[in-house]
Amino acid sequence: MKNICVIGVGYVGIITAASFADLGNRVVALDIDQEKIAGLQKGKMPIYEPGLKELIDRNVEANRLRFTTSYEEGLKDAEFAFIAVGTPSGVDGEADLQYVASAARSIAEYINKGLIIINKSTVPVGTGDWVADIIREQNPKVENFAVVSCPEFLREGSAIIDFMQPHRIVVGSLDAEAAEKVAQLHLSLRAPIVVTDLRTAEMIKYASNAFLATKISFINEIANICEDLGADVMEVAKGMGFDSRIGPSFLNAGIGYGGSCFPKDVKALAFMAEEKGRHPQLLHSVMEINTDRRVMAVEQIKSLLGSEDLTGKTIGMLGLSFKPNTDDMRDAPSVTIANLLIKDGADIRAFDPIAMEEAAKLIPGVEMVDTPYKMAEGCDLLMVNTEWNEFRQLDLRRIKKAMNEAVLFDGRNIYDPEKMAELGFRYRGVGRGYNGR
Ligand code: NAD
Repeated sequence: MKNICVIGVGYVGIITAASFADLGNRVVALDIDQEKIAGLQKGKMPIYEPGLKELIDRNVEANRLRFTTSYEEGLKDAEFAFIAVGTPSGVDGEADLQYVASAARSIAEYINKGLIIINKSTVPVGTGDWVADIIREQNPKVENFAVVSCPEFLREGSAIIDFMQPHRIVVGSLDAEAAEKVAQLHLSLRAPIVVTDLRTAEMIKYASNAFLATKISFINEIANICEDLGADVMEVAKGMGFDSRIGPSFLNAGIGYGGSCFPKDVKALAFMAEEKGRHPQLLHSVMEINTDRRVMAVEQIKSLLGSEDLTGKTIGMLGLSFKPNTDDMRDAPSVTIANLLIKDGADIRAFDPIAMEEAAKLIPGVEMVDTPYKMAEGCDLLMVNTEWNEFRQLDLRRIKKAMNEAVLFDGRNIYDPEKMAELGFRYRGVGRGYNGR
């Protein structure tokens, strides 16, 4: 059993804290957000993540997990301190490190001898060294501490499984003893452990996210060409995915990637390259293709409705979160698309199983409706933003009956074009090869 402090109780921090507690460690989860910590102390979850409440309740009950806003309390007996604070996009796409810097300064104040500080946040290459400098500057008497990079690869919506069954653990440090201790901490996860230097570990995270974003933009470019040439991108992706050199994942054409990671991480990597005088051509194309998806969705909707002016049209949105099984609305395509449609005169109604409360803060002009069937009432077009499983099971006859016009733009290709035609919908997916039919 190790004593661990997790700093920053957001999507990553809360999963890290609860999971390490479940693995038998004593964990203090620390955040400067008093409301969040007060809520957690009363058993209220700050985010939606399947299985999280049960995991937290079980470990709080067993006295392995507690929550605090005090660095003094959090670091008192800690052998390991994970930094899991946010690193949002700053000016020009550069990662904003103000939260990391502030966490490092607070650690410096209460640091124990031998503390191993582990950066879990996604941070620009060189940040580990910079954190060590801040701590030394802030507390010149500090002895014998180490900074290790251990980037997180979990996905919201399947975060607990991803944490407990990772594809790999990356541990980066120039301090071999500290790296070994961090590797040991993860041994029970039975995953391959890549031990490397600090900067390489930081780069592995950016390169991984940029590669996944590239796969998405690649298949979206192929989807455009499929539309022009009459091929079906879903079948193309299936045919490609059986090749083990390619693999089937991240080949879903649609309205593009969003969320709190891919957009900011691709931007931050491009920024790092540009700072060194490079022109990261591929990364720029990946971003450009992705931005275009949202504008193209609006164009497709206008073409389906046969009008550039959407005044008097009511559009219903199925799904708002950037992906299923999360309430995370950060950089969700639905927000950009809703704003563009509203600008062109449309009235927007929306239903999302989990994210409506978060979404209402970002798109106050959108009417949130508590069932998909009520939401469809009087709509001239429905669009799918998020591939929630329950949308696949909807009674589409009932939806059609409720609508003013049976028109559907499927931004995630969850429905079968032929079945939709049979049901009497004017239907359009992404890259589904209509020209050839
Ligand atoms: P988040 O915004 O959900 O949470 C960050 C938390 O840090 C907030 O609760 C905030 O109050 C707290 N915080 C800020 N400054 C603090 C300080 N000085 N001391 C203590 N707490 C402080 O962020 P997130 O989505 O969990 O992301 C955290 C990091 O992990 C980011 O670098 C992100 O890129 C990376 N990451 C995120 C995901 C994901 O799916 N969300 C996956 C992998 C990696």
